[in-house]
Amino acid sequence: MAPPLDRSRAWLDEGTVIFDRALAAASDKLLAGPTELAGWTGRHLVAHVSANADALRNLVAWARTGMETPMYASPGQRDADIEVGSTRPVSDLRAWYNRSAAALRADLDGLTGEQWEEPVRTAQGRTVPASEVPWMRAREVMVHAVDLGSGTTFADLPDGFLRDLLDDITVKRSGTANHPALTLHEADGPGTWSVGHRGPVALEVTGPLAELAAYLAGRSDGSTLAASDGTRSPTLPRWL
Ligand code: ZN
Repeated sequence: MAPPLDRSRAWLDEGTVIFDRALAAASDKLLAGPTELAGWTGRHLVAHVSANADALRNLVAWARTGMETPMYASPGQRDADIEVGSTRPVSDLRAWYNRSAAALRADLDGLTGEQWEEPVRTAQGRTVPASEVPWMRAREVMVHAVDLGSGTTFADLPDGFLRDLLDDITVKRSGTANHPALTLHEADGPGTWSVGHRGPVALEVTGPLAELAAYLAGRSDGSTLAASDGTRSPTLPRWL
């Protein structure tokens, strides 16, 4: 569930600046090492974020021309491109990221009001209006800026973005079979998010906004959050 287009575009711009900074702060040595994402080095991650911009450009072209151009030829192709990309020199990867991000931005700037409404299909097989593309990209650059491991944390991401992210993940997770039923409460604000409510009992989990977002995004095990039954917050399945 994407926020309104003007807000998504603002998060995309802000998230791109945050990723730019996180990448600039990441040494070549850091990028050669592992990340928290299973099996991926920093180089895999930069290759993925760059390839993602290229893939989203395919959706923008689809909206502009009406000719079906999927994000990736296939899931196997997506993974192979990341694997091959990760072996490129780091200077090439940095240049690829800059080039692909700028090109995506120029493509989005060129869409007309009607073209934003054109249906396109995501890599997960969902049909969405092209107006969801900026949100898809904002999520990628914001969350992967943290994944780079060069010092950016969820607490560095804008509160408004974290609320939109929690809204989005809540809807996705609630569509997952047998997801633990949870109600998240923001410790220092008004936010409440209900996930996977099909059973009568939901666990209440309370914590700072950034920690709730990290937990629901699968970037923290929830051990810093207080659960109502005195136990640890449950381990959650993947959301993307
Ligand atoms: Zn990603």
